[in-house]
Amino acid sequence: MSSRVLVGVKRVIDYAVKIRVKPDRTGVVTDGVKHSMNPFCEIAVEEAVRLKERKLVKEVIAVSCGPQQVQETIRTALAMGADRGIHVDVSGKDYENLGPLQVSKILAALAKKEDASLVVLGKQAIDDDNNQTGQMTAAMLDWAQGTFASEVVIEGDKIKVVREIDGGLETIQIKMPAVVTADLRLNTPRYATLPNIMKAKKKKIDYMKPSDLGVDLISRIEVVSVDEPPQREAGVKVESVEDLVSKLRDSGRI
Ligand code: AMP
Repeated sequence: MSSRVLVGVKRVIDYAVKIRVKPDRTGVVTDGVKHSMNPFCEIAVEEAVRLKERKLVKEVIAVSCGPQQVQETIRTALAMGADRGIHVDVSGKDYENLGPLQVSKILAALAKKEDASLVVLGKQAIDDDNNQTGQMTAAMLDWAQGTFASEVVIEGDKIKVVREIDGGLETIQIKMPAVVTADLRLNTPRYATLPNIMKAKKKKIDYMKPSDLGVDLISRIEVVSVDEPPQREAGVKVESVEDLVSKLRDSGRI
């Protein structure tokens, strides 16, 4: 079996940016807003690169689906240690409709084309909070899946995955080929150093369209509206415990 790893890296609005909803409520403002690699994708890249450094895999390929700008996200992955990149161009209206179903079709097609034995993704993207792409990709490929991974150990053609579940950890063993999704505690991603950023400029990024992979981008979802979270009401100061209790009672909270 080949030991090629495909890592999905998504370009999202930076986690520190205060999100603003467009006045027509069709989405959020993205123009002129700082974007970065989805934090869980950084963890996925780091894990794949560590597997390569331990000589457990031969090649790490970073894939991003989106418009021209996602090449920056791929470059970041290359500077972290991925060997080469693939940019699957999805722009305009298709990009607005791009979701887990379309991305997983693309990733599944690439996993087969590249003869990968492992796909590592983030557990979720912080913009749409879908948490579906890994699961759907495994389903499309009919591969095993280890989601919410906080530890990944390759043992021959098997992988031990420690999963973060409600109230504890679950350890499973899955057979390769497989899809793994990275949770927060899997590792601490490295920063790309300047020499590595320079080196990454020379690494290859292949360019293709979904149709080159035989993938259609038909969406089954229509966003009806996007709204700001409700504003928090101002608090009130109370003079005494009695005052607090009576206010709580009056408002029906006790
Ligand atoms: P989601 O299911 O949308 O929450 O995303 C989970 C993971 O799927 C992300 O952390 C990425 O690894 C991968 N993914 C989602 N969208 C894309 C994309 N446009 N390009 C590459 N990978 C993606």
